[in-house]
Amino acid sequence: MGNDTTSSGGRRGIPEEGARAEEVLAALREMGAGDAKWREGRTFSLVYHAGDEHAALLKSAYELYFAENALNPMAFGSLKRMENEVVGMALDLLGAPADGAGSMTSGGTESILMAVKTYRDRARALRPEVTSPELVLPSTAHPAFHKAAHYVGVKAVAVPVAKDYRADVAGMRDAINGNTIALVGSAPAYPHGVIDPIEELAEVAAARGLPMHVDACVGGYLLPFVRELGHPVAPFDFRVPGVTSISADLHKYGFAAKGASTILYRDRALRKFQVYVYADWPGGLFASMTMLGTRPGGAIAAAWASLMRMGRSGFLKTAAEVMRTTKAFLEGINKIPGLYVVGEPAMSVFAFSSDEVNLYVVADQMEARGWHCDRQQSPTSIHLMITPAHSDLCERYLADLADAVAYARAHPEAASAGTAAMYGMLAHVPDQAAVREFLSDFLDGVYRG
Ligand SMILES: *Cc1c(COP(=O)(O)O)cnc(C)c1O
Repeated sequence: MGNDTTSSGGRRGIPEEGARAEEVLAALREMGAGDAKWREGRTFSLVYHAGDEHAALLKSAYELYFAENALNPMAFGSLKRMENEVVGMALDLLGAPADGAGSMTSGGTESILMAVKTYRDRARALRPEVTSPELVLPSTAHPAFHKAAHYVGVKAVAVPVAKDYRADVAGMRDAINGNTIALVGSAPAYPHGVIDPIEELAEVAAARGLPMHVDACVGGYLLPFVRELGHPVAPFDFRVPGVTSISADLHKYGFAAKGASTILYRDRALRKFQVYVYADWPGGLFASMTMLGTRPGGAIAAAWASLMRMGRSGFLKTAAEVMRTTKAFLEGINKIPGLYVVGEPAMSVFAFSSDEVNLYVVADQMEARGWHCDRQQSPTSIHLMITPAHSDLCERYLADLADAVAYARAHPEAASAGTAAMYGMLAHVPDQAAVREFLSDFLDGVYRG
């Protein structure tokens, strides 16, 4: 192998001779053998699977536009049309007025990045007195807002949420100052699946002449249908006056292929602040709507295909199934002594916690039983996100969970082993800089090959 592998056995250096296609594919299959078992419903985020038939359609649609590039909408009128139609369907679903506008992006992070950039540029254009822009958001808002703020030179001001884990309206009002450029609320927030009081936040924002972004990355393509089924869903979309933009991910409950989200604005004038233009390049005039340069046509075609194939009836049916499964999980978890569901989740995203057993030990035990676990802090909890892949798994999960909880009760010493030890240690490091250092070293190690 010579110098073409790293010390840990990973390849380094392009092979001298190309392998046969079958060999390459076989190697790829083999690499996935130890991965999280999403096909068996063993993961609760990362993969949103609406069935094999739907996945096959996404792949075919992706393949049809596999090579096309949405960087230049003039070259590929097909992609331009698909993107406009996807955005149109999203605007309609979320109650935008006729002048609403938006873009497709590669994911929630890019959608959020574009929103923060838009509000920064809006402030630059309309409020020159703002010299150090700030974004006011609840502590439960997705880290993508902090990342975006960091990238575009905005200060993110996180306000602790109230006891019910929803945004604290008074606290957010108090955090507004002359540098504030926008407010943020989530529908729902990822950690506990609760919807922030969007109507009240939007009222606070509007009263101060500020825009308000609603992060519906996970809820945008599910909540409207959950409401239509009769579940209580507080108003969160453009029907709320004062909501000026919404992010909603197609590659979550829109059941599209990965690399697809929407960023939507109440009017076209606002979207103009999202545009980037560079007119002095020898290579020609450059203007782009979002962050990426080359944009995969496949992701756009698959998103279009998903919405067209699902239809409103398909989304309603899927939402009903997901909510039925969610109810079974919630009831089962609340019945296990020592466990409780955190807050009042609005849809199929939620967390459970415990005051009696160490949940990081429970998580390690669940992983030993083959369930990939998402661990959370403050409060210590395990995060679940229900999709159609979990419909038949509730009983097995609950039985394993009851066992894992019993184990954690009987073995308090397990808190100093496995990932429980690491989480326990990190939770007690008083110095945030040390935690950051630990995590960046960890990541550096992960990507060492
Ligand atoms: C998933 C998610 C995001 C980030 O989206 P990505 O597609 O992972 O970049 C942002 N906000 C919420 C509420 C999410 O659930």
